Amino acid sequence: MKILVLEQSRVQQIILSALFKECGLAPDFVETVAEAKAAVDKDEYDFVFTGYSLPDGNGIELGLYIRNMGRSRPGIVLLTTEDKRSIIKEALSAGITRILFRSSRHELHTFIRELADTDIELEVRDGKVLLVDDDRTMSQVIKAIVEEAGYSCIVENSAERAMSRFNDLDVDLVISDYYLLDSLTGLDIVTMIRQMGGKKARVPIVVISGQANVETRVEILRCGANDYVAKPIVPEELQARITNLITQKRLFDRVENQRIELQQLAMTDSLTGLYNRHYLSDVAPKRIAEAKRHKANLALMVIDIDHFKTVNDSYGHDTGDDVLREFATLLKKSCRQEDIAIRLGGEEFLLILPHCSQPGALEKAEKLRNEVVQLKPAGIEITASFGVTCADGDSFESVANKGSRNLDFGIIFSAADSAVYQAKKSGRNCVKFQDIANFEH
Ligand code: GH3
Ligand code: MG
Ligand code: MG
Repeated sequence: MKILVLEQSRVQQIILSALFKECGLAPDFVETVAEAKAAVDKDEYDFVFTGYSLPDGNGIELGLYIRNMGRSRPGIVLLTTEDKRSIIKEALSAGITRILFRSSRHELHTFIRELADTDIELEVRDGKVLLVDDDRTMSQVIKAIVEEAGYSCIVENSAERAMSRFNDLDVDLVISDYYLLDSLTGLDIVTMIRQMGGKKARVPIVVISGQANVETRVEILRCGANDYVAKPIVPEELQARITNLITQKRLFDRVENQRIELQQLAMTDSLTGLYNRHYLSDVAPKRIAEAKRHKANLALMVIDIDHFKTVNDSYGHDTGDDVLREFATLLKKSCRQEDIAIRLGGEEFLLILPHCSQPGALEKAEKLRNEVVQLKPAGIEITASFGVTCADGDSFESVANKGSRNLDFGIIFSAADSAVYQAKKSGRNCVKFQDIANFEH
């Protein structure tokens, strides 16, 4: 997080510097508007904090300058001592992201801490807004307000047209008039968007209406709109609501992406990049259900590297890790798109092979066994033992008919594991098959 502070008072500089330092941030300080302009031209800052009164101008002037810089402009925080509506209005229309009062040390501190913690721009000033309004004059006024706040604005004059373009536009916010002279209203837009699948359904929506009564507002919010703005429109109010909603959406998207990344991480084995046991417990029931439903084959192959302990003992643990990595790469390479390679732990691996027949699985195992012999990971000769089993429509039936419990993943896995045990007993470096129908579990 790169921060510039435009502050002429040395005392304020010291106070601010301490606040930033406490949060692990070290901003650059400048003392004049001219120096600040030169600094933002030269370096890419994420945030610029500026005082209002400065020796060669004011903070708003810097705000306007930054606003005209283009897309990658930094967020701007105005630090002021005055709680004057005229300054607030001027600041908002100059594209200032946030106004903080010097008297409120707590607010300032919280803001800086959040900045440091999340490394997220707290108010997003770029984005695409879709405006649906059939009144030409009104839509031009709203478009100007939206653009003044730093966002681009696409105008459509009917709900039908707006909805037909909505999927392709990838907008950050929708603003719709409540009454449209069309067969569809603003509420229909809200309903239609909320019924869409995935991310599209979460796009924030503001409904504008001349009817300020409580019933209408409740109806709009009940329908799933995020916010409601009454006519006549107060530009600053609409701008503030747009900024809040777009910022929230970005934060939500970011958190959602982080959640997906974390989930991915939790399901991945860090040494080899293969899936791990957590993933297995997630994916196994799904694959079984799918195979049962379609009466399709499902083959499992358990692979255990032979005498791996001696690799570690002879060459060290790090080399052992290299061997495991190279071995895993070979497994990944041998997988078709629908196959799943999992590191069960240590030097034990599992391949789940949907739609793979018994002969197919055995052929694949034999081929892999040969490739392992030739692999020589980290220059070391290794071999592996393979246990294969295969469930198909018939085995699901026959196991059920024998009166035993339903053929679940545990049984199939035990069969493959028993096959690998037989392979070990038979001298290793070989493939053994366990028929599920004859498997005593
Ligand atoms: P077998 O042929 O009977 O399978 O013998 P083995 O030595 O391969 O099997 P055993 O289960 O006795 O030993 C497995 C070894 O794998 C012991 C353990 O130290 C090692 N191991 C487990 N996880 C890792 C790892 O992440 N990295 C390394 N380098 N070694 C590991
Ligand atoms: Mg082993
Ligand atoms: Mg083992």
